[in-house]
Amino acid sequence: MMINVAINGFGTIGKRVADAVDAQEDMIVVGVTKTGPSFGCKLAINKNFPLFCTSDDEENIALFSEHGYECQGGISTLLGLADIVVDCSPGKMGNLNAQKYRNAGIKYIFQGGEKHELTGLSYTSCANHDSAFNANAARVVSCNTTGLSRTLVPLYDACGQLDVECTMIRRAADPGDSTSGPINAIKPVLKVPSHHGIDLMTVKPGIKINSLAVAVPTTIMHVHSIIADLPEGHNFTTESIIELWKNQPRVIVMNGSENRITSTAEVMEMARDIGRKWGDLHEIFVWEDGVSLKGNRLYYFQAIHQESDVIPENIDCIRAMMGTVKDWKKSVEMTDSSISKYYGL
Ligand code: NAD
Repeated sequence: MMINVAINGFGTIGKRVADAVDAQEDMIVVGVTKTGPSFGCKLAINKNFPLFCTSDDEENIALFSEHGYECQGGISTLLGLADIVVDCSPGKMGNLNAQKYRNAGIKYIFQGGEKHELTGLSYTSCANHDSAFNANAARVVSCNTTGLSRTLVPLYDACGQLDVECTMIRRAADPGDSTSGPINAIKPVLKVPSHHGIDLMTVKPGIKINSLAVAVPTTIMHVHSIIADLPEGHNFTTESIIELWKNQPRVIVMNGSENRITSTAEVMEMARDIGRKWGDLHEIFVWEDGVSLKGNRLYYFQAIHQESDVIPENIDCIRAMMGTVKDWKKSVEMTDSSISKYYGL
């Protein structure tokens, strides 16, 4: 079955999702949207993605051709061609857009900038692929929640109980964003606990977790500093936890000192070295020498490439919702073999 996918919003996440869909053998990009003429229109056209307008307003649609971009129509026309739409609009547009998708009678996926309540179903491949099977609407959780899921879900599945406290050290802005900050400050999120930990419970309700967050002046990654209490009588060692993560898809565990990868700068340099588009790193990076189990208490750090860890999750979510691949690991393998080729890892 070939799945027809529309992408509404062609920004940081949207352009990556479009390329990832395009790389799969079981799905096709039927169109992407832009709000108005811009370089992104040229990019979409050069990649052979049919271009549509985010609105149905005729004057707005006409603007594209006035600037030399062939626009195939408004959002309603695009939705009419699709089986499923991946909404990659800026956060908080959910209610408005969801109504359009429901009117068009197609399935829809939102991103982590929207609230869980919008779809009532939040998703990451390793936590709850099954619950999204044949679903009509879902939200792929944020980059941070995806990161927490990748390491905490396998641990929880293996030991049945986890109490987690974590601090999210967040990048101030994406590299292509000139409007966000801080640029010379460390800014604590004063809503305590922060929403990040709570959000993990939307995909794995059994994990008990609280989080704090601070924004720091960097653009390339988030870092999580995590303390997790395992149940009494567990059989884990530091080494067996490292082994568990090494066997988990989309987690890279690497010794920082031995590899001279001791900060997010070197992690992202490695990501550029391995040669994926945009220098992306879809995996969560765990510093092996920063993992330590003392009694029941586990300490570790992980780094998240915020612009790309959710991209393969969107692809798996499409397959789950379209009811085509039930086994999450099989979907992960299909997705990653087409977009996560690398050299040197
Ligand atoms: P972005 O600002 O880079 O891109 C959003 C795109 O949507 C832009 O091209 C914008 O022109 C377009 N747009 C504006 N109004 C629209 C509308 N009404 N309908 C459709 N498109 C519209 O934003 P982004 O970083 O790609 O974020 C998209 C979503 O992904 C948000 O929910 C965000 O929280 C989430 N997310 C972002 C990141 C990240 O690091 N950037 C990581 C994970 C999840």
